[in-house]
Amino acid sequence: MTTPLLEVKGLTVAYERDGSPFQAVRNAKFSLGAGDTLGIVGESGSGKSTIAFAVAGYLPENARIASGSISFAGSDISSLAARHRYGITGKKIAMVYQDPAGALNPIMPIGEQIAEVYRLHSRCSRAAAREKTVDMLHRVHLRDPHRAYDKYAHQFSGGQQQRIVIAMALAAEPSLLILDEPTTGLDVSVEAEILALIAELRTFVKASILYISHDVRVISDTCDRVAVMYAGEIVESGPTTEILRSPSHPYTRALLDCLIPFGAVKESVRLASIDGQLDIAHATGCSFAPRCSLAEERCHQKSPPMAAVAENRASRCYFYDKIPTKDIRRSIPARRSNLGQPRPLLNIVNVEKQYAVRGNQTRALASVTLSIPSNRVIGVIGESGSGKTTLARVISGLELPSSGSLQLGGAKLHGRVQNRPVEVRRAIQMVFQNPNATLNPSHTAGYALRRAVQKLTGLRGAKCEERVRELLASVKLSPRHLEALPEQLSGGERQRIAIARAFAAQPALVLCDEPTSALDVSARAIILNLLADIQASTGTSYIFISHDLATVRYIADEIIVMYLGDIVATGSAAAIFERPVHPYVETLVNALLPSRQRRDLQRVESSPPTSNAPRGCVFHQRCPYKVGPICEEPPPWQTSMGHRYRCVIAPERLAYLQRSHQVQVENN
Ligand code: SF4
Ligand code: SF4
Repeated sequence: MTTPLLEVKGLTVAYERDGSPFQAVRNAKFSLGAGDTLGIVGESGSGKSTIAFAVAGYLPENARIASGSISFAGSDISSLAARHRYGITGKKIAMVYQDPAGALNPIMPIGEQIAEVYRLHSRCSRAAAREKTVDMLHRVHLRDPHRAYDKYAHQFSGGQQQRIVIAMALAAEPSLLILDEPTTGLDVSVEAEILALIAELRTFVKASILYISHDVRVISDTCDRVAVMYAGEIVESGPTTEILRSPSHPYTRALLDCLIPFGAVKESVRLASIDGQLDIAHATGCSFAPRCSLAEERCHQKSPPMAAVAENRASRCYFYDKIPTKDIRRSIPARRSNLGQPRPLLNIVNVEKQYAVRGNQTRALASVTLSIPSNRVIGVIGESGSGKTTLARVISGLELPSSGSLQLGGAKLHGRVQNRPVEVRRAIQMVFQNPNATLNPSHTAGYALRRAVQKLTGLRGAKCEERVRELLASVKLSPRHLEALPEQLSGGERQRIAIARAFAAQPALVLCDEPTSALDVSARAIILNLLADIQASTGTSYIFISHDLATVRYIADEIIVMYLGDIVATGSAAAIFERPVHPYVETLVNALLPSRQRRDLQRVESSPPTSNAPRGCVFHQRCPYKVGPICEEPPPWQTSMGHRYRCVIAPERLAYLQRSHQVQVENN
């Protein structure tokens, strides 16, 4: 039998917290052969990244391997001190992290950083290292690698930086490449580009891949095998396609059920979530028992062993053969709004926003004109740097527009929130991505809600208390949460408090800026259900910003598509997602498709920084259908079924070009 490249046996990793040990990983066991790909998937706190750090030898100082072993190429490396790992970590084992900017030296050209790896590991000359670096940058599809060599990290977008970090990891020609959430936080189209790149790398790089992700879909795109982690334990493992088709553990089933089904919309689907919270310190029995719908008495008394359930498959569940193969909770009736026709609510006319960056003017919004109606959810989509968050901040009064005007209900809206009368501040509220940033850590949830109710409605005493409890009930929290400090609440509960606070005075418009992006799949489902329910019952309009297109598709009625500060298309959600016409919208929506149906995404590399916004059509530097110099003039608005878009090409011609391109790609 051949020795696996990586073999982890009985691995337990303990952290020292407040003077007592706490096991983040318990008794983990898996192996990885040469050229294999294994995904480790689970919610935050499941222990998946701790395993990656233990294998790479990067555990923090307050963590130690309490028991078990990690064998790499036949040698136990778990007990090696950092200095004895030289020649293994960074060379034979390379790691790519979530935050590429943090992995790059900001004051050294990126080419030099990669060339240094070649010089160290291959002991080649400067000239040879430069040549190899340019070749590697070309392989990871970085545009113009010769010029890119001399640029600095800040001159690249997030997706380009991640390509550079992957190039640097590969320069050491590792036997094992650990990818720790390498696409988390990237826009959907950039994520698709990086996933396509990783799939392509597998054809020319011999390294085995250990892929850590909270996203089952990403793992299904990239890995042959998967290990599902819950509360520090691997609870199921086996071939990815088999596990996703018929899971043998209730947690895997629940994780899959929480995903937003492809193309699902709020009117027809209520999202499934997992009851309760992950409890890493769970005392006895199966760690998933408090949240498991199949749990019986013995599950609470004795932890089930990890046992083989089929060839190459194992599960840590007494009832592995009773897991439903299909999500049975989708039949719950969804919601329908009965609040009548939309009326004009907010008008934005020629709003521009410029920032001075290092002495240069950078355009964040380019003469944006649009109307937001009442009783509608408007989804705003576009990659980082498209201007969607700036738009929300200008509407909320947190940013002053450089020019242009805003009207709410026909009356002029002052640029600065401080200059807006209380009824206007009441009418426009905001929910941010990170509720921690807006909840004072030393004040209870009850204090935050009471303060918002008093400030915005003037209610006091019993009436204020009554409103606070109404708000709490609307976000499905109980009165006991009123006494909790933010740190005593889960991420999802904190976001629910932030939503309750935004609705304190029955706003007309709530700006939701990536409200679910920092949450696990189950908490995301809970928040989306809540937002959709509240909107259906109150008629409040939302401007809903997210880089997660499945989320926007689910909740939005209408869509605005932005690119480099400009609006390039608007229309009903159905038209934009089901019949995308504008070439940029086509690229974005394409990234939503299951990987096997995506069309040649690498032909379109991620957007340039906003400081380099081109003249004319903002998309012309990436557009696969660019006609010629005419595209470098401002394009006209065109109208197609259910939406409007800016392009020189008429809808029928664009549809023809898109079909031809698809056929061409499929034939290649
Ligand atoms: S052992 Fe029991 S509680 Fe644990 S996952 Fe299986 S059915 Fe659920
Ligand atoms: S105007 Fe030209 S470059 Fe812009 S989207 Fe249309 S075809 Fe592409």
